[in-house]
Order: sequence, then structure tokens, then C-alpha cells
Amino acid sequence: MKCIAIANQKGGVGKTTTAINVGTALAATGKRVLLIDMDPQGNCSTGLGINRAERTRSTYDLLINGALLSDVVVSTRVPRLDIVPATVDLSGAEIELVELDERTHRLKFALEGASGNWDVALIDCPPSLGLLTMNAMVAAESLLVPLQCEFFALEGLSQLLNTVERIRSRFNPGLTILGVALTMYDRRNRLTDQVAQDVRAVLGKVVFDTVIPRNVRLSEAPSHGLPALIYDYRCPGSEAYIALARELIGRLDPPRSTTSAQAA
Ligand code: ATP
Ligand code: MG
Repeated sequence: MKCIAIANQKGGVGKTTTAINVGTALAATGKRVLLIDMDPQGNCSTGLGINRAERTRSTYDLLINGALLSDVVVSTRVPRLDIVPATVDLSGAEIELVELDERTHRLKFALEGASGNWDVALIDCPPSLGLLTMNAMVAAESLLVPLQCEFFALEGLSQLLNTVERIRSRFNPGLTILGVALTMYDRRNRLTDQVAQDVRAVLGKVVFDTVIPRNVRLSEAPSHGLPALIYDYRCPGSEAYIALARELIGRLDPPRSTTSAQAA
């Protein structure tokens, strides 16, 4: 199971929208996908139509109560897409974890042994760099970082990269940045275009070619409890997420010829 944390401590940059729609796109290609809602806001769970009554067990139980993964997973309306939902008590977990043994490794340990059941796990992180996000970074092998095309896009990125470096040196040496995805791009707005160019100039190849446009269908879909890819699969936002998922698969499973060429 490839485990990818979707992280950026900035709020509202498109983490959850990316988790839901990339997850759906991956499931559509036949992959078995597990979403883990690590955000006490529970937006990923709500956006997939998991109502409060269905959230009897949640990420909180996984992290704090030692619940088994198999007991907290809920299936969604999307074939091959499962989720560990989040409830508000997860906000207390940030503090409760401090007292617990292995407080940075609770998610990693909970996922161990489940690798046969899913091909990909996507962790939707909260907008902070606290213990919940740290647990995600310790459990993950790579990071997908959504970056909003706005003036302060790069601000805070160094803080995120510092945290990644700390996790790498102390807990998870193999942690990589799978890619940075530019979100909420508006081609009629010259500023967002400039920001996209600047980000590419600074970060280079790590930025995905695909850019997610600002698209109202992406923001409407969660209120229907559906991924945009199902709510309106032909809208520009859905098409962009399909393209992003394709790029992501290319980075996760590089073609053999490339790998052997590199090895040679
Ligand atoms: P948080 O940090 O609060 O968890 P987030 O990073 O997960 O936020 P989202 O919840 O995905 O961000 O997006 C923030 C808001 O912007 C939501 O209302 C979402 O529907 C909307 N949104 C996200 N991406 C787009 C887009 N490409 N076009 C239009 N609206 C978008
Ligand atoms: Mg979110």
C-alpha cells in the first residue's frame, strides 16, 4: 500500500478537495483506495456523504483507543473507495497524544498489516503542523502538497519543508515529496498566472504539470455528499483531477524502462 499524506498547514488550499477527487479518480482506475480523515473538521467524511450517525468509530479511535483499522473503515458510495471518518473529538487528540507512548507513530502502527487491503492510502491532514499531521508524515512514504495560486502561496512552505526534514531525520528517512499541486488557478486573473510561474521557477519539477482550476462545481459537490468526479465528471475541475491522478500514478509507478534507464 502506497501511503500519501496530503498536507499544507495553510487552511483552505484544497487539501480535502484533492483527497476526495484524486481518491475517486484512482479508484476509477481500479485501485483500491483508503482515505484517512485526519482533520477534526471532518470535511473529507462529509464531502463523501458519510453522515454523523455513520461515524460511530473514527480516526480518533484508531489513534487513541487502539481500535483496529478494520473496525473503523466505512465504505463510500464510490466503488473501491473506503474511508476512516473523522469526528470532532479528533481535535482533542492533538493534546491527548502528547501523553501517549509512540505519539508520533500511532497512525503508522495502526496501518501496519493492512497493506494487502488497499493499493493506496491518502491522508487528509488538518491545517496545522501538530501531532496529527506529524502522525500522517511518519506513516506516509510521500507527500502531496496542494498550493493555492495566490500571492502568499509560497509563504509557509519553508515551515512545511522544515517539518518534513525533521520527520525525515528523526522518524521516516524515506519520506519524499511526491509533488506540489497548484490549485484554484484562474486563467483570467493575471496574478494567479504569475504565482503559478513563480512557484514553478522556485520549486521546479516537483510541481505537477496539471493545474487545478478554480471551478464552482468542485465547491458545490461536497454539499451533495459526492466527489466532483461523480457530481459532474465533465466539469473542468473533474477533468483536472483526473489528469492529476494520472500524473500521480506516473510518479508512484514509474514505467519500468525509466527505472532501468536510471539504474543503468
Ligand atoms: P482546510 O485547511 O480547512 O482543511 P482544505 O485545504 O482542505 O481546507 P478545501 O476544503 O479542499 O481546502 O477547500 C477550501 C474551500 O475551497 C472549500 O469550500 C472547497 O469547496 C473550495 N475549493 C477547493 N478547491 C477549489 C477549486 N479548485 N475551485 C473552487 N473551489 C474550490
Ligand atoms: Mg480540509
